[in-house]
Amino acid sequence: MPAVGIPRALLFYELFPLWREFFTSLGCEVITSQPTSKETLNAGASAAVDETCLPIKIMYGHILELQGKCDFIFLPRLVSIEPNSYICPKFMGLPDIVRGLGVQGVIEPTVDLRNPKEYWQRLWQAAVEIEYRLGIYSPTRVASALFRGLLAERGYRARLHQGYLPWEALDSEPLPKPSTQNQVKIGVIGHPYTMFDQIINMNLFELLRLSGYGVLTPVNHEIRLLNRIARQLPKDLFWTYGRRMIGAARLWYQRKLVDGIIHIVSFGCGTDSLTGDLIERLTKRESDIPFMLLTVDEHTGEAGFRTRVEAFLDMIQFRAAGAGRSGCQ
Ligand code: SF4
Repeated sequence: MPAVGIPRALLFYELFPLWREFFTSLGCEVITSQPTSKETLNAGASAAVDETCLPIKIMYGHILELQGKCDFIFLPRLVSIEPNSYICPKFMGLPDIVRGLGVQGVIEPTVDLRNPKEYWQRLWQAAVEIEYRLGIYSPTRVASALFRGLLAERGYRARLHQGYLPWEALDSEPLPKPSTQNQVKIGVIGHPYTMFDQIINMNLFELLRLSGYGVLTPVNHEIRLLNRIARQLPKDLFWTYGRRMIGAARLWYQRKLVDGIIHIVSFGCGTDSLTGDLIERLTKRESDIPFMLLTVDEHTGEAGFRTRVEAFLDMIQFRAAGAGRSGCQ
């Protein structure tokens, strides 16, 4: 049976549980690239044109790492992953760009789920496209694999909603979540591939955990809830992740779920130039919760990044202590 490589980049922490189960149900071996390292980034940056944003450069690095280690590389052509919204247009051209780098064996089904009436039909088409590419077409097996994939995704989402971070929720049996009651909490927002990549986030989550802070991210909430809150604004955003980020920030400060918000954005990101500014303005106008925007690119130094985060955390701790709360060191 063929080995299918799935790069640990971009929407990995969104789509991996579904596609891992899908491919293994079809009898394929699933191989992933290693967590991002400086080498991954350097390899991707050398292959990319200068204007490319950091997450796409990192994606190239992961693809280059998988090359030669598997029969196929799974890289869907993503147009939309939920009804009535789009994701960044850079995702659409990725398979073509990657082929241009000389990468062979790319499986690139089109995933375009923006029309609610055609949602299941489109998802089914994507699954069938993969089957044809693997050369093992069988409608019953596709249906069963897709069903198992969707069940796996549901289990993964349920764990995220219990407060786990994506890499914890991917474990089939994650450790019990410690109580975060009374703990000072930080909300971290960003595109999932920006905030959950350890090179881009410079190990922010580890820093927060070691310092004793609780953490919330948009993936810890029901997508429907985030979309509903974001849609209370006069104008609806049509970017999937921009909408979820706005929904999360508003949910957190309206219900006082966090003590501070950190937003991580990639330098040169077109969508974040709008949503980043909007979230910052909304947070400052509608709440008194401290907000910090961190812009990163491949030249960002870890020392400067950590100094800014630590200064922000000191201020949060000072405010929490003033309100008679503690929980961090
Ligand atoms: S949304 Fe921004 S960070 Fe994400 S791929 Fe597009 S330009 Fe890059």
